[in-house]
Amino acid sequence: SHILNLYRAHLSKGRATLAELFGSHMEVESSGAWLRTSDGERFLNCGGYGVFIMGARHPIVMEAVLDQLNRHPIATRILLEPTVGRAAEALVSVAPPGLDRVHFALSGAEAVETGLKLARAHGKHRIVATRQGYHGKTLGALTASGKEVYRTPFQPLLPDVRHLEYGDADALEQELSEHPGEVCFIVEPVQGEGGVNIPPPDYLRRAAALCREHGAFFVLDEVQTGMGRLGHWWGADLAGVVPDVLLVGKALGGGVLPVSAAVAGRKAFKPFDKDPYLHTGTFSGAPVLMAAVQGAIRAIKEEDLVARARDLGARLLPEVERIVTDRIPDLVVSVRGQGLMIGVELVEAGLAGEFLIELFNHGVVGNHSMNGSSVVRFTPPAVLTDSDVDFFLESVERATRDLVD
Ligand code: PMP
Repeated sequence: SHILNLYRAHLSKGRATLAELFGSHMEVESSGAWLRTSDGERFLNCGGYGVFIMGARHPIVMEAVLDQLNRHPIATRILLEPTVGRAAEALVSVAPPGLDRVHFALSGAEAVETGLKLARAHGKHRIVATRQGYHGKTLGALTASGKEVYRTPFQPLLPDVRHLEYGDADALEQELSEHPGEVCFIVEPVQGEGGVNIPPPDYLRRAAALCREHGAFFVLDEVQTGMGRLGHWWGADLAGVVPDVLLVGKALGGGVLPVSAAVAGRKAFKPFDKDPYLHTGTFSGAPVLMAAVQGAIRAIKEEDLVARARDLGARLLPEVERIVTDRIPDLVVSVRGQGLMIGVELVEAGLAGEFLIELFNHGVVGNHSMNGSSVVRFTPPAVLTDSDVDFFLESVERATRDLVD
């Protein structure tokens, strides 16, 4: 098609090949949990890497964004801007206790850079991260990300980085005790891109305690897990920890605009307190983005989406597990989930790709996992109706059937 040719000519061959696998629809309209194409097909959107906890174009978010867009979208950065103050207040109102300072940015990777820079400003120049962890692809975030193929072409990255086994608190203890006062530990509460890896129940609590004990800086990357995805506002709440810095992105913009944030305690944030030019970005705190943040948080609160994510997850996970263990027991390694982040690990990456295509053929969009390529990942919105749930489960069932045919 013409668009595929544009991909080939101006984007990349790899992207064209990927797009071709899923057909090339000319126009897509998204609304709530659904995508509709101009040729009359519809898809339940269980992809989006965690962006769509409130579905697409949620009315509360749209109203807030459109109103701001029509009045004053981008800030002067000189005048007092009510929107950035109010968005920070809203975010702090739902953040773990004691985290009351906010730096807004645009992408998840930029939030990660903010966390790493805060740590460095406190003298924590060593980065300890996890294998298969994902933190983004800017140079600093890539240093922390734990998949070699994405890192190798860009070496040398930031120095003094170690990647430990995810979930291994003993390895962390060893590493931290060897470098007291020098480490920034960055970790996800559940590894998303790593393939929905859920750590042992006491991992994060131990990690937090070890960081405190050995003077390490604890950065919790909730870019994918935050904003209710796990059936709690934050993975931090689920684990009962408060990090030095919590990173949020994706759903923070209400599924409408790109916005991220690093949320920190007063002490952790101190390096940024005095000099307003130390860590800046042109579009940081732009009013239209701040309207999206306020809309997103209001939508989640008013529609009780955190509890709904928890309930829906509790319903979907055993059903998905039952279907795949009934239908394709030899092809599945395990089914894992927490709230509305569900992963199906297949015996090999190629099968995961085929499963995604079969799901797509039956009207469900899922995602592959960049750092855990044999895992098919579902991150549905918390606004699924009963009939959406039925549609999803039927599609999964049909997709498993076609996978073995
Ligand atoms: N951290 C985590 C946990 C993520 O899942 C992602 C994106 N998948 C990022 C950081 C990077 O976010 P972005 O792609 O917006 O830079």
